[in-house]
Amino acid sequence: MKVLRTIAELRQELSLMRQAIRSNASVVGLVPTMGYLHQGHASLMQAARQQSDIVVLSIFVNPIQFGPNEDFDSYPRDEARDVETARSQGVDIVFIPSVKEMYPQATQTTVSVSQLTERLCGASRPGHFDGVTTVVSKLFNIVQPQRAFFGMKDAQQVAVIQQMVNDLNMPVEIVPCPIVREEDGLALSSRNVYLSAEQRTQALVLSEALRAAQEAADTSVAINAADIRRILREQIASSPLAVIDYAEIQAFPSLEPLADQEEVQGRDDLLIALAVKFGKTRLIDNIRLQKSEVLSRV
Ligand code: AMP
Repeated sequence: MKVLRTIAELRQELSLMRQAIRSNASVVGLVPTMGYLHQGHASLMQAARQQSDIVVLSIFVNPIQFGPNEDFDSYPRDEARDVETARSQGVDIVFIPSVKEMYPQATQTTVSVSQLTERLCGASRPGHFDGVTTVVSKLFNIVQPQRAFFGMKDAQQVAVIQQMVNDLNMPVEIVPCPIVREEDGLALSSRNVYLSAEQRTQALVLSEALRAAQEAADTSVAINAADIRRILREQIASSPLAVIDYAEIQAFPSLEPLADQEEVQGRDDLLIALAVKFGKTRLIDNIRLQKSEVLSRV
């Protein structure tokens, strides 16, 4: 496994690896991350390993997707451990560029997806998705992958990136991967390390609220969007440390919000999504309302 830090080295190595495979049809799979890797990231690497000839993992804490009062400086980092995780997952190249390598001068170009980014995380984190789509575009141009693997943990990000790829005719297939959870249901996140013991216990309310909403949707004779929102809010209110940013139900991938009276039954295109703050730590989680989906564990 190669650990590379410059764009030039990465391009050269990829070209050599492609030649060694001696096939025009070789598939490069890209897994973009911000590092501090966990089993959620590992599941993306596994999917990439299965569906690609060459697997590139990028680790880059992208400053332009953080707001001025967000956690860019304190974002957890552990490069040595990440490199070992990548090695154990059979990654071929780990790309770890510096901020200077990715943004050598003040950038004048932004890739921006409009409507999809106005809601949910986009509403509470202005500019966040512009930072994401810009850096992902740069990574696509640098690595030129045929496939790119993203977690449904960030469902809005999947919708936004798929829209960008469609709109700009980018020749890459976006592969969404299921959410990986702790044994007790908490969705894995690099930010979980910020939680105090008490916050960690109360953070279970996210997956519990999603499960309660899913169960209500599965078992009720008639249930509408307002009922789902009420169930989510009631469940989350049972955790005194939890402060709701949003608790929403919408179509996926359009992210079109459901009107209060809209019925939920019979729809298989719905996404229930939560963002909840515990102190300064903002956690997100979601579930697709599909008959087949059950919250999966590690
Ligand atoms: P991050 O390093 O947090 O930017 O995440 C990098 C990629 O890993 C994104 O596509 C995330 O959606 C994905 N990811 C993060 N946490 C999980 C999880 N618990 N399960 C599945 N994918 C995840």
